[in-house]
Amino acid sequence: MDESTRKAVELIRSIGKEFLRPLGLEADRSGRAIPADHPFYQLVASSGFMQRGIGSEYVANGLEKPTSHRPHSSFTNSTWARNVLVAEEGSYWDRGALVSLPGPGLGGPPVLQMGTPSQKERFLSIFKQKDRPLWAAFAMTEPSAGSDVAQIKTLARPDGDEWVLNGQKMFSSNSSRAEWVVVFASIDPSLGRLGHRAFVVERSFSGFEIVRIEHKMGIRAYETASFVLENCRVPAENMLGGEEYYNNKNKGGFTAAMSTFNATRPIVAAMGVGIARAAYDIARKYIIEEYPAHSLHRMRQARERLVEMQRQIANSRLLCLHAASLLDMGRPNALAASAAKQYSPPACLGVVQSAMDILGEAGITQNSLLEKLARDVKAIDIVEGTQQIQRRIVAKYIL
Ligand SMILES: Cc1cc2nc3c(=O)[nH]c(=O)nc-3n(C[C@H](O)[C@H](O)[C@H](O)COP(=O)(O)OP(=O)(O)OC[C@H]3O[C@@H](n4cnc5c(N)ncnc54)[C@H](O)[C@@H]3O)c2cc1C
Repeated sequence: MDESTRKAVELIRSIGKEFLRPLGLEADRSGRAIPADHPFYQLVASSGFMQRGIGSEYVANGLEKPTSHRPHSSFTNSTWARNVLVAEEGSYWDRGALVSLPGPGLGGPPVLQMGTPSQKERFLSIFKQKDRPLWAAFAMTEPSAGSDVAQIKTLARPDGDEWVLNGQKMFSSNSSRAEWVVVFASIDPSLGRLGHRAFVVERSFSGFEIVRIEHKMGIRAYETASFVLENCRVPAENMLGGEEYYNNKNKGGFTAAMSTFNATRPIVAAMGVGIARAAYDIARKYIIEEYPAHSLHRMRQARERLVEMQRQIANSRLLCLHAASLLDMGRPNALAASAAKQYSPPACLGVVQSAMDILGEAGITQNSLLEKLARDVKAIDIVEGTQQIQRRIVAKYIL
């Protein structure tokens, strides 16, 4: 691990221990996300973390795309692989609190991927300021379009030098507190995927209204919201990339959205690794402290289980790092990203289940962090495409 990666992981570890874990637990018990005006976020903003956090390094790098072609760079000296390691470490302490951190979040990659230089400057440079915490978000999912994003129904109609957006979005993380949200809409559903366009909808635009914050089974520290767009007028300069971008058929909005997933899927999958590692540590400690009193047979079984858990964690981590490092080297990584997202979440779910088996009744009480981890880990399997969808993608590439 290179020096800057080591420092980034150490930083998130210290933030995790002191803030993410306790705040995540508090949010879980109360059922309410960490409030946007919590002093912790102010601290995060004033430390400059918004431009250093996960997926935000391009802000610090003068808004340059971090995936610049560096064929000879090793993964330990690269941005996306570092993001994977930071995501894992942060999620070890609390995945919900990690995702709640201010910064461009999932809104960053599409701006970076599709935005013109002036759009990157306008939308991403706000995260360089340290006065107050700021968030951005990403909204693709709709009530009738989750896995099959080609089915989105939100409509964008041109009107002079503006676009008028109408539709509903759901499950958009941090959108309830975002300065802007990247919204995917269709200019003509009969065009299918070629009709997709990405717009930056700013919080101040009229017609943009948050209608619901979900009550989730886990990862409660951040808000996942539904919103409506009702005759929401968006200036033409907020269409990511401008019309020219979409006239090039190889760069349709759909294709662009899909390629941002290639960057974010390994990161999300690594979050599962962090949760699994936390469960593994609890199980390991339990075996060391509690098991000697039990039979040799039980001890042997527990040891085998622990070895298998360790193997699943290591495999998952390697797949995530592999997918991210390909991206860092400027090489195609769609297959590797989906392979990581397909393998890691169910494997990590299995690790948490095994930890629960090892602890038995001690694992299901509210006093045990394990019970929370078991609820938190499931979401990893859903966000950024479920395991069934990843299998379809992997199969498409293999065949
Ligand atoms: C906590 C959380 C945060 C989220 N954050 C965001 C966000 O910030 N922005 C955003 O846009 N979205 C977000 N999402 C939405 C997420 O991306 C979708 O939930 C996900 O893509 C699945 O869509 P769906 O829930 O509509 O399930 P569906 O598409 O209805 O799928 C239901 C089930 O059917 C399976 N299935 C569907 N199609 C197929 C098929 N062809 N073959 C085999 N099986 C299939 C799926 O695997 C799944 O098991 C978030 C979701 C959660 C839970």
